[in-house]
Amino acid sequence: MPKPRQYGGFAMRIIFLGPPGVGKGTQSQKLVDTLDIPHISTGEMLREAIRAKTELGLKVASQMEGGRLAADEIVVQLVRQRLAQSDCRNGYLLDGFPRTLPQAASLDLALAVDDEAIDAVLNLTVDQEELFRRLMERAKKEDRGDDNEDTIRQRMTVYHDMTSPLIAYYEEQGVLHRIDGIGTVEEVFDRICHVLNKVE
Ligand code: AMP
Repeated sequence: MPKPRQYGGFAMRIIFLGPPGVGKGTQSQKLVDTLDIPHISTGEMLREAIRAKTELGLKVASQMEGGRLAADEIVVQLVRQRLAQSDCRNGYLLDGFPRTLPQAASLDLALAVDDEAIDAVLNLTVDQEELFRRLMERAKKEDRGDDNEDTIRQRMTVYHDMTSPLIAYYEEQGVLHRIDGIGTVEEVFDRICHVLNKVE
């Protein structure tokens, strides 16, 4: 299996893009294990804040109800703080962020201050029906509070309206790579590795 080469010496900053249920979580985990970089999932960070009932958690809980997005300023702030930590110096994988054009623009600005930029955006794709089936299956398995049928539909609408414009945004920057998300976990992971091996 082609593995991405070791990026010793320089950082690899990757964004995982794709609709809810496309398999980002599973593939992200495999990739961070292989590249040995931190996995930064804003969904996880927000759920953790809600569980811990922090001030931020209490604020975002109502914003996120019914599959809606948390406010840009809050999420951007959260990510900026995380990226400033020393383990992010050798790269990282962003999973679930950015999710809106303003978030993407803020990220670019924050990176530019340090003369940095995103190296690769992986856009995982599968068709609508398959997505919905996967989400319903996950809802049953994980008992995730944000995975009932209405919420799933809402999250898909939000993805379509707010997040999918990022595809064109990153395409314009020349960093977007489309990955077919249909197949076994290993098959999809091979495609990702193949793409990353070509990133300069
Ligand atoms: P995820 O685990 O990435 O599917 O995220 C779960 C939920 O967290 C989403 O439905 C949003 O309500 C919220 N969330 C995660 N990431 C973001 C983000 N970048 N911007 C706004 N809300 C987010």
